[in-house]
Amino acid sequence: MNKNKAAHKPETAIESERTDKAEARLLPDLRAAGLDEIAAVVRQLEQPAYRAQQIFDWIQKGIRSFADMTNLPADLRRRLAEEAELTTLEALKIQISKIDQTRKYLFGLADGEAIESVYMEHSYGTSGCISSQVGCAMSCSFCASTQGGLVRQLSAAEMIEQVNAMERDTGQPISRIDVMGSGEPLLNYANLSRFLERMHDPRGRNMSYRAFTVSTCGIIPGIEALGRDFPQVNLAISLHAPNDVIRQQLMPINRSYPVKELLAVCKAHADRTGRQLTYEYILIAGVNNKSEHAAELANRLAGSLCHVNLIFLNPVTESGYKPSSMAAARVFTELLAKKGVSSTIRKSMGADIDGACGQLRRSSVTGHKDIK
Ligand code: SAH
Repeated sequence: MNKNKAAHKPETAIESERTDKAEARLLPDLRAAGLDEIAAVVRQLEQPAYRAQQIFDWIQKGIRSFADMTNLPADLRRRLAEEAELTTLEALKIQISKIDQTRKYLFGLADGEAIESVYMEHSYGTSGCISSQVGCAMSCSFCASTQGGLVRQLSAAEMIEQVNAMERDTGQPISRIDVMGSGEPLLNYANLSRFLERMHDPRGRNMSYRAFTVSTCGIIPGIEALGRDFPQVNLAISLHAPNDVIRQQLMPINRSYPVKELLAVCKAHADRTGRQLTYEYILIAGVNNKSEHAAELANRLAGSLCHVNLIFLNPVTESGYKPSSMAAARVFTELLAKKGVSSTIRKSMGADIDGACGQLRRSSVTGHKDIK
């Protein structure tokens, strides 16, 4: 087993640790609980059944604490506060972009760790970009999030709360959610699934699965699972290279899941779900942005149901890579178009606050300085 396959191991270890901790408590974390689970808690507390719906409704509203559940008797609120958990995130820092009003949040977690999330406003509505892990084990050479390695998985409750906390702060409902912040969501599949199911629950928040995009560095078993369990969730693949030689240099995970196998699985995914998938491709000057790379990429993707997002590299101090010029990006997109592969040069939001892709990191922990 090579290094990258071994990287899957910690997930199980960390998950069982968290489960042990949760089991040690009398009642579960209600933030990510379904109505049935809350009904069980209500029975355990020997309360009338209708209380379950009331508690559930408050939690769907993104309420901060049990104390705020004003239609419950004070005694029940106190018992819940003592015996159950309700994960709540508070922002340690909020940065607002002067360019486009994008907001980057640094949220503190109960164990002292910190994660970042981003809120964006677009012509079509609002979106949130959330993290799925504290840190990341994938070691992509261009990305800031991975530099301290993986610290731990985020729970479903912590994912839900990133959305709630941004809504509480902005007063705006978030209509689209990208699981594209720090971490590799498909290596935290159990918690990701629970997060998606909770957000989709027709009795609760009732968001369409189509409003979600999960971005992955290309974990093949995870892509297959997502296609099977959540065929309507949008899939974005961080491809970033047309061949194994370049991809391996940028993304060590390519040793486990090489380009040809990855693309075959992605094509099968698009066929099965009938949904167009997105390939993310960061243009890095001299590394993957030349005409020959565009031609090779176009040959590989031609004829498949996909769209390519061309992204300018956001500089991360440690990597030494430089973003592509706009001229090279234009040539790249035109070469793809000639083979019938659609692409857009994506505008980067929040670049002045390091809210842009690949710039999310545990700033407070790493003592990160802004990149000018
Ligand atoms: N692990 C997942 C999600 C996190 S990365 C994944 O790999 O997709 C989210 C997106 O940001 C990915 O497309 C990633 O490749 C991109 N990204 C990372 N570092 C970047 C950088 N320095 N500049 C631009 N995009 C970057």
